[in-house]
This record gives sequence, C-alpha cells and structure tokens, in this order.
Amino acid sequence: MAKASPSSSSSSSSSELITASDTYSAHNYHPLPVVVASADGAWVTDVEGNRYLDMLAGYSALNFGHGNRRLVDAAKAQLDRLTLTSRAFHHDRFAAFCSSLAELCGMEMVLPMNTGAEAVETAVKTARKWGYQVKGVPDGQAKIVVAENNFHGRTTTIVSFSTDEEARASFGPYTPGFEIVPYGDLAAMEAAVDENTVAVLLEPIQGEAGVLVPPPGYLPAVRELTRSRNTLFILDEIQSGLGRTGATFACEHEDVVPDMYVLGKALGGGIVPVSAVVSSRAVLGVFKPGEHGSTFGGNPLACAVAQEVVDMLRSGEYQQRATELGEHLHRELGVLAGEGPVRAVRGRGLWAGVDIDPARGTGRQISEQLMERGVLVKDTHGSTIRIAPPLVISKEDLDWGLNQLRAVLGTTA
Ligand SMILES: *Cc1c(COP(=O)(O)O)cnc(C)c1O
Repeated sequence: MAKASPSSSSSSSSSELITASDTYSAHNYHPLPVVVASADGAWVTDVEGNRYLDMLAGYSALNFGHGNRRLVDAAKAQLDRLTLTSRAFHHDRFAAFCSSLAELCGMEMVLPMNTGAEAVETAVKTARKWGYQVKGVPDGQAKIVVAENNFHGRTTTIVSFSTDEEARASFGPYTPGFEIVPYGDLAAMEAAVDENTVAVLLEPIQGEAGVLVPPPGYLPAVRELTRSRNTLFILDEIQSGLGRTGATFACEHEDVVPDMYVLGKALGGGIVPVSAVVSSRAVLGVFKPGEHGSTFGGNPLACAVAQEVVDMLRSGEYQQRATELGEHLHRELGVLAGEGPVRAVRGRGLWAGVDIDPARGTGRQISEQLMERGVLVKDTHGSTIRIAPPLVISKEDLDWGLNQLRAVLGTTA
C-alpha cells in the first residue's frame, strides 16, 4: 500500500494528508481536520471538493479574500519582472510603497519586514534605541509596558512578555525589560510608566485573547499619559488594522493616533508575508546602516502586493463594507447573546468573539460542528470562537454562516 506522502498530494484524501502532516511536521498547531486545496473570495474547497465558508480569514491576513483579482494581478505582474534584490541594492518598487504606506498611516517613515513577530521585534528595538538616544534613558535600563493576555507573536523576546503559559513555558531564559499590566486598567498603566519607560505596547483590540475591546476612553487616556511622560505609544494593529473593524486602524474609533503602528497580516494581501513598522522621522530616524535588517524585508514582490493593498484601502470601500456588514453581524449576534448557550459577544466591525457556555462544549467542539456544516472558524481560550470573515464576504453568505452557528448552538433566534 502506498504510504501517504506530500508528493502524492494531488490524489490523496484528507485523512491521508493529515496523517502525513502529523508524521512529517512538528505538532505546533492543532488544525481543524480540513485540507484546503483551492479558494475564491470567502470560500475554500477541500481536496474532496467540499466547500466551506472561511469565517477566520487567516486571522485577518485574508481581509481582501482569497484570490483577490487586483492583488493576484499585481503579484503576477511583479513575478515576471523582479522578485528580490535584497536591501544591498535599491529596487524600483520600494520608495513608492514606503511613501504610500506612510501616507495611509499619517506618518513619515516605514521600516518593512516580513512577519508580524519581526515587526514587533523591530518596534521593540526601535523603542529601546529611541529611549537611549533621544529620551536619555541610562544604558540597559529601558522598560516597555505591555498588557496581560497580549498576543504579539512567537519569538523568544515576544513570548518573554506573554502571560499565556502555553506560549511561554519551557522557552526561557526570558528577555528582561518588560512590565505587564492588566489590559484596560488605567491606574495600573499610570503606575507602571516611569522615567525609564521607552514605550507602551498594546493591541487596540486584543484578538487572540478573544476579541477584547478595552473600556471606552482607555486608549485616549494611555495616549495622553504616554505623551505627558515622553514615552512612545506603540499600537500593534497587525490583526485589528487595515479595514477589519470598519476603519483603517482600530484606534481611529477612539480618535487615537499612536507614535508607531505595527502592521502585518492583511498588508501582504494573503499572498506574501509583509509587515512594517510605521512612525515619525524622529523615531525611525534612530536607525543607522547595519543596526537592523532583513534579507526579504521590503522585497519587490512584497512591495508590489502591499502597495496594491494600500491603494485598495485608500478608497475606503473595504472599511465601509466592514462597518455595514459588521453592524449586521453584531446585531445578529446580539440577539443570540444571553440566549441559550451564548454567554457574551464582543468585537467591532467584521470581528467578533463569541463566548459559548462551556457546558455546551468547548470552542474546539463548536468549531468542529461548524466545520461539518461548512463553516470554518477558530476557537480561542477554551470556550470562545472568533468570527472574522474576509471583508469581501457577501451579506447572504454571512447570513448563511450565522444560520449554521444558530443550528450548531440549537437556537432559533
Ligand atoms: C498574528 C499577530 C502577530 C504575529 O504575526 P506573525 O505574522 O504570525 O508573526 C502579532 N501581533 C498580533 C496582534 C497578531 O495578531
């Protein structure tokens, strides 16, 4: 009998491919048992030809949907022309991408990287260097204040300031220089920010924690505090940004402008990893040649795709869709909340965390039952499921997905 192996993927069944994945890849994920072979818009098709509505959208990496024509065309055109130079040489897509992203953010400079975690690392390094060079913090004393239940990525430094034991345990020794305060607690933040604090790093909405929206007024108050204490306010908008909440950035809902945006996920259009730190000249200007870098950061293919993403966001059309469909989503989920097994619903725009009564099943079990009905979501923190479809989803498809959720939860509302 032929052994399932990656090379036989074109003819293998889902279960053979899953067995082969389990055999040949590290078990650092526990995916739902679906093997996707193709996709279009908000829909994916598995190797057996079953179709599923994608209500996760690659944790917001697929805000513009699978196979978005504009983005695929931009990538294809660039593939035929130039894909990589390294930053040892200039290339002709770089300046235009950096200037248009800076403009979209209302900032002055961009430092492009690849993955979100790399951009967060870049933000940490930038803040420390700014702290020593500009703020005058004594060498080695820089402190960055972060929030409990944060998710900023998986590198050794980033897990050092995680409060998630699964993410952190067994990966020490940990990088020092971080203080963790409860999310949404202004008094704790005021107490933590001292003269050696170079930055406060927050998600404007905590995604992995279960789509937690901070209390109104919290982000503006942290903005005011950091400004008055000469500390950088860094917002990780990797998951919340670029249209998801109905605005280009989630912090716009609170009229907050940070000193630095950290971007990723949707910036690469679901095609290539593209991340960036975007800030002022006074902040990003601290870097000199040799102090930071990445072979693939800001490569021509990445710039071509991300430039198209920026152009698409400039029209406001995706933010508008997320606002309208998001109001609909939250209206429908609001009816479910408090009824039957739905304990609470949070979120903003096309983004929701739905807490299910643990007695009804784990988030994982609910996700598997939804999968059997053709809807893909992801659970987080036990009994929460996260709903974040591509912003291009149709209202009809969204309603169909919500009907499957009602059916799984046994509610008729
Ligand atoms: C996904 C995510 C990251 C890490 O991005 P990777 O590309 O997976 O490294 C960081 N911050 C937030 C808020 C994220 O959602």
